[in-house]
Amino acid sequence: MSKPLPDIDDLTRPFWDAARDGRLIMQRCADCGAYVWHPQPWCRACYGQNLAWQEMSGQAELFTFSVVHYAPLPGYADQVPYVLATVRLAEGPQMMTNIIGCDWRDVRIGQRLAVCWEERAGGIRVPQFAPAA
Ligand SMILES: [Zn+2]
Repeated sequence: MSKPLPDIDDLTRPFWDAARDGRLIMQRCADCGAYVWHPQPWCRACYGQNLAWQEMSGQAELFTFSVVHYAPLPGYADQVPYVLATVRLAEGPQMMTNIIGCDWRDVRIGQRLAVCWEERAGGIRVPQFAPAA
């Protein structure tokens, strides 16, 4: 059983196209400078619609996390226990993701992380984070 795939539409297509190339991008408001995540048609801070995609460094630190011991879907059965996390990107915004590449017992708040990519069906790549080298 495979993991679910994102619903890709005109709003989110730039993000998934960049992910395919191994680039993490996020919308940023040209009017007030706020980052917008998840992709939205308007800025959550000022409601402006002057949004542009910006490439992110992929560097982050762990803000908070939870260890999941029960698979929410059959595709996750061989993944448990896994780490569901909120990371703070070096540029400031936060995103929900998974921490991979280390034992869940070694995960710590404030840990330095770097983006990496999980391949899913159809060439879809999903951003994950692993301890920074
Ligand atoms: Zn704004």
